[in-house]
Amino acid sequence: MSTAERVLRSDLRDFSGYVSAARQAVHGETWLNANEAATASLADADERCRRYPPPQPAALVGALAALYGVQPAQLLATRGSDEGIDLLLRAFCPPGAGAIVIAPPVFGMYAVCARLHGSRVIEVPARRGRSGWHSDLHAMAQAARDTGASLVFVCNPGNPTGECIDTDAITALAHSLQGQALVVLDAAYAEFADAFPDMAPLLDAHDNLVILRTLSKAHALAGARIGSVLADPGIVRILQRCQVPYPLPAPAVSLALDALQPAALAATRARAADCKMQRSRMLEALTAQPGVARVWPSQGNFLLVEFEQPQAAFDALLAAGVVVRDMRSQPGCERALRISIGRRTDNARVLAALATLAERAA
Ligand SMILES: *Cc1c(COP(=O)(O)O)cnc(C)c1O
Repeated sequence: MSTAERVLRSDLRDFSGYVSAARQAVHGETWLNANEAATASLADADERCRRYPPPQPAALVGALAALYGVQPAQLLATRGSDEGIDLLLRAFCPPGAGAIVIAPPVFGMYAVCARLHGSRVIEVPARRGRSGWHSDLHAMAQAARDTGASLVFVCNPGNPTGECIDTDAITALAHSLQGQALVVLDAAYAEFADAFPDMAPLLDAHDNLVILRTLSKAHALAGARIGSVLADPGIVRILQRCQVPYPLPAPAVSLALDALQPAALAATRARAADCKMQRSRMLEALTAQPGVARVWPSQGNFLLVEFEQPQAAFDALLAAGVVVRDMRSQPGCERALRISIGRRTDNARVLAALATLAERAA
């Protein structure tokens, strides 16, 4: 029995999900089975949206699978990674029960989805190390065993920590939880890591490894809401049964297909490379700023920055029209703001605003 079959909610074992009109495999010329309008909307000149879209458009699934180096059967296209996280919760945690393991400070959606579903959130805080943050994967595995948690979320590169976790450590974690829990590697920022070993080939060896990817960050399509769950085909089938019938709007799909053409992919790589360069310049410049206590090294498109007076820093940035993310409510981040890497002019504005702060203090 695969890990997924073991951890799948027992009440969903024979659940087949909604059988939409589109999912019935029949042939015809005159489609009158889905109560769609007979003619197009005035707003929809090229008639892209008159009919319900395919639940998993083959062209998009094929292009994403090629991008991430997996078989199409190992990929579920989702309405952003957010939907992937929600589907994992719904399929693998019994409602009002069950548990997940996370390593805060971390992306908030894991806990939000768990809370909405009535599942416990077991926190194994990441440690502040000399060279950066460290998630304790051994302690996370132990916590999963102790609590019977079915999902262990590993955010890598870490948001907001910027941490990059060793691939071997993640596969060891998956191995140690084989048959007991799924290890979910959220790789939303993979494109910004200095070296990001390709984890996709490891899916064949670990039936409990799940990888989340997204077009929202490096591919610059946050508004299109396209994410991917990469996993064992058994897991992909289970998640699809829990998905809404038509999760991917046709305009978003066509935009994503354009973004996966070679020229757009080359531009995406160039954008990510430029972001990494700006990131190291900002790391250096911020570290040298008076009033900055610490800048954590980052493998994402952001920097986690600790200030001697975080409120004054936040206010000075806001006064200059720069909105950053206040991280102070997260454990271990009591003095920290998260600053996304912007265009050169945006980054210069951040530095100028913080310089006025230093002048006022002097
Ligand atoms: C931004 C982000 C995502 C992306 O979510 P989408 O729903 O795909 O936009 C996923 N995980 C983490 C950790 C993120 O920071």
